[in-house]
Order: sequence, then structure tokens, then C-alpha cells
Amino acid sequence: MRYSGIGNDQLNIIERVSFPTTTPEETMDLVIVFFKKYPLKAIGIGFFGPIDIHKDSATYGQISSTPKLAWQDYTIGTGVGAGAIQTGSFIEGFSHPEMGHMIVKRHPDDSFEGSCLFHRDCLEGMAAGPAIEKRAEKKGQEVAEDDPIWTIEAFYVAQAAYNTTLTLAPDVIIFGGGVMKQRHMFPKIHHEFEKLVNGYVKTPPLEQYIVTPALEEDPGTIGCLALAKNELQKLY
Ligand code: ZN
Repeated sequence: MRYSGIGNDQLNIIERVSFPTTTPEETMDLVIVFFKKYPLKAIGIGFFGPIDIHKDSATYGQISSTPKLAWQDYTIGTGVGAGAIQTGSFIEGFSHPEMGHMIVKRHPDDSFEGSCLFHRDCLEGMAAGPAIEKRAEKKGQEVAEDDPIWTIEAFYVAQAAYNTTLTLAPDVIIFGGGVMKQRHMFPKIHHEFEKLVNGYVKTPPLEQYIVTPALEEDPGTIGCLALAKNELQKLY
């Protein structure tokens, strides 16, 4: 699904729509028609990757390899994306991190093969919305809260938090997105995380350390508005 929104300088959303992610041509036609209604100053884009972030590159802004084959080499999903922010800026090296594809160990009760075309049973392959849907044979929103699928899901999400903790020792880990709207999972994630850490490092209290976004609605859209505003501030 592609989300598009229009906002003002105060980052308030004026209009917001969503379009199904089909082919780049179909989806982007809808996005362009939507944006053409407004006099735009800047557009901030949030997208899956990996993406070329080098401004002097001929393929700047293009998606390179992605499990979403129709969108390969394009510029704009349903997956697991992650970024790390230090003193207000994203941490980058030769490119942006791709933490959504970190390797996870398999839950002993999970026979699902994994849905990532590159790694099969990486974090995205095991824990993204489509993986839940394939296991349950229905949409994640329709899976009951007491279904063991959520314990398995929490097991993988906790591994993402564990690996991130040991790699970056961040102040806070924020899990957002569609799957994480299943707020009943958080006690399970905290429990699995505690088991993995096993007292090895002392983190902040888990209710304040592994959390949901402070922006309940539209964190992605508001983040894109903030990106666009930042770029405008560089110009003027
Ligand atoms: Zn992967």
C-alpha cells in the first residue's frame, strides 16, 4: 500500500489517501494525480530499499535490489524497515542500514519457510505482514489475540530488539507499522527480549525502552512531511 499525504509547515496533515501497491506505473499514476491538486513546495518520501542514497550517483534515489520485483530499480510495501538516529541524524555508512533483513533464529514451533526472496528466513521473511498472512491464511488483523502466531511473531521482533541493543545500545527502540498495531504483543516482546538478554546487559525499563511510536496516527506521513520541511529549510 502506498500512502500519500499533504501537510502544512506545522506538519499537520491536510489530506491523506492510500493506494494499493500494484505496478509502479499504475500506482504512481494515482499518486501523481493526487499530488497535482496541490501547489507543492517539497515532497518527502518514505520507501523500502535498498536504495541509492548518494546524491552524486546517476541512480540516486532509485531502489536497487528488492524482494518487490516489480519495483526493482524504481524509486519508491509491506516489509520491515529500520533506521537508527543519533543526535538527530540517521546513522549511515556506505549506504543506509537494512536492519529489516537481519538474520533471526527460527522459533522451534515455526515451520514457515520464510517469504524473503533474497534470504528466505530473515526478519522480514519471518515477521513482516505477508509472513503472518501466509502462516495464518488470513489477514493479521483477523488473527485472534490468543493465537500462538503472536508468540512466534514476538519471538522474532524481540530478536530484532536484542540484536539492535547489542549493536547500538540505543536509548529507545520504537516499533511501529501495521503489525505493531497489535499492542497485545508488547508484553510478549518484552518477555522474549528478557529471555534473550538473560541479564547480560542492563537496559532501561522495558516499558520505556521497547515502545510504540508517540505519534499514534500517521507517523510515516508526518515523518515525510518533516523531511520535506528540512529540505526547504536548507534552501531558504
Ligand atoms: Zn531478507
